[in-house]
Amino acid sequence: MAETITTRFAPSPTGHMHIGNLRTALYSYLLAKAQGGKFILRIEDTDRERLVEGAQEVILDTLRMTGITYDEGPGKDGGHGPYIQSERLPLYHDYAQQLIQSGHAYYCFCTPERLESLKDEKGIGGYDGHCRNLPPEEVAEKLASGMPHVIRQKMPQTGVTSYTDHVYGEVSIDNAELRDQILIKADGYPTYNFCHVVDDHLMGVTHVVRGNEYLTSTPKYCLLYDAFGWERPAYVHLPLLMGKDADGNVSKLSKRHGAVSFQDLVRQGYLPEAIVNYIALLGWSPKDTTEEFFTMDELKKLFSMDGLSKSPAVFDYEKLKWFNGEYIKKMPVDAYRERAVPILEEICPPGTDREKLAELLRTRIATFGEIPERAAFAAERIPLDESLFTNKKNKTTPELCREMIAGCLPLLEGVEQWDNDTLFVVLKQFAADNGYKAGAVMWAVRIAVARLAVTPGGATELMEVFGKAETLERLQEAVK
Ligand code: GLU
Repeated sequence: MAETITTRFAPSPTGHMHIGNLRTALYSYLLAKAQGGKFILRIEDTDRERLVEGAQEVILDTLRMTGITYDEGPGKDGGHGPYIQSERLPLYHDYAQQLIQSGHAYYCFCTPERLESLKDEKGIGGYDGHCRNLPPEEVAEKLASGMPHVIRQKMPQTGVTSYTDHVYGEVSIDNAELRDQILIKADGYPTYNFCHVVDDHLMGVTHVVRGNEYLTSTPKYCLLYDAFGWERPAYVHLPLLMGKDADGNVSKLSKRHGAVSFQDLVRQGYLPEAIVNYIALLGWSPKDTTEEFFTMDELKKLFSMDGLSKSPAVFDYEKLKWFNGEYIKKMPVDAYRERAVPILEEICPPGTDREKLAELLRTRIATFGEIPERAAFAAERIPLDESLFTNKKNKTTPELCREMIAGCLPLLEGVEQWDNDTLFVVLKQFAADNGYKAGAVMWAVRIAVARLAVTPGGATELMEVFGKAETLERLQEAVK
C-alpha cells in the first residue's frame, strides 16, 4: 500500500479566521486529500492570556462553511484525542520529564526580575543559561520548597541545525544562536514551541503546513524531535499574504487593506465558495491549465506541493469581487433568492416584486453587500432629475416625455394583467397609435419610474417590479 500522509490545521482560538489562516487550513487539507491522506484539526489554546470566548465556534463554523472537513478533531475522535491542547496538559508534563531525564531539558528558577535584567536596550531578552547546570540537590530543594519555575530546553551550543522545507529549501541555523527556550511555563501550561511538537508526533502528522513566520524557529523544533528520537515531519511553510497599499507598494495583509477575516468577508456578502476558490490560488497554481474556477472536489484532485510558490501572494480585493460576481451568476436560482430576497424585503416597500428585482440585480452585483445600494431606487422614490429625460438617440426632451407619460397613464390604469409582457405590448401599441417611437416611450417611462439613467432592466420589467400602484404614482409624480 502506498504510504499515506497526515496533515493538520492547528489554529489558536483568536476569535476570527484570518484569511491567511484559512489559506493554511485549505492547503493543509488539500495536500492530505490529494494523496488520500488524513486531515486533523487541533485547537492550540495554551496561551491562556489570549483566550477569546466563542473562538472555537468561529473555527468550526468557518471549516464547515468552507467545506474543509476534518477526519479527526474536536467531536471526531480518531484515537489521538483530546484535540484541544488545554485538555492534554498531563501529557506534556510527562514528555517534559522525559527530556529532563535524558538531559535535554532542565528546571529554571530565574525570577522575572532577573530575566528582565538580561534584556538589552531594545527590551529583547536573552537567556544566559543560569540554571542549566544546577546541582541536582539544589533543584530538588527548590522544587520541594514550591519555588516557581519553568522548564527549558537545553540547546546544543555548537554545530548547525538544518532542515529542508518543501517550499523554501534548506534552512540552517547556528546552534550558538539558539536560546534555551521554555517548554513548560510557570503556570504549568506548555508553550506552543513544545506542545505542538509533542502533538504532531503523537498524532502521526507527516507534513506540517503553516505560515512562514515559523520558518526560522523550526530548527528548534527539529532539535526537540531529535532529543526525543522521533522522526521529523516534512515542513511546508507558506509565503506571507500581502495587501496593496495606497501608494502602490505591498505590505503584510492587514485591516487597512480591507476585511481580513473570513467572517467579515462573508458579512460583506462574499460567498464561501468564491473565497475558497480565490485563496486557493494565492500561493499555489495548478499545472497544465489556465482555468481559474475550481470546486473543492476539483482542488482535492489537483493540489500538489510543486505548485506552491515562495513569493509572497498579493490579496487583490478586486479579483475576489470578480470571482464572487461570477459565483453569484452561477448560483442555483433558489440559493440566490434565499440570500438576495431577504435583503430586498428589508428595504423595499411591500408591493415590490422582490424576486423579480433580485433576478434583475443578479448579473449586476459582485457581492450581496452591494444590493442595498443597487436597489436604492426601488427602496424609495429618489428625486427626479429632469435632465435625464433628454436623450439624443431616442430624441426625447422633458416636454415630450411629459406628453407621452400623461398620454399613456389612462391606458395603464386599465391594465389588469400587470406583467412585463403585457405592459410591453400596451406601451408599444400606445406608441404606434400616437406616432411616437417605441424607444422614446420606453425611455420616458423608465426614467419616470426609476429616476436613474442606468437601471437593472428595462421600463416594463421595472414596472412589474414596482407593481401597479407604485408605478402609477411614480408616473403621476413625474408628470407633475
Ligand atoms: N497555533 C499556531 C498558529 O495559529 C499554529 C502554528 C502551526 O501550525 O504550527 O499560528
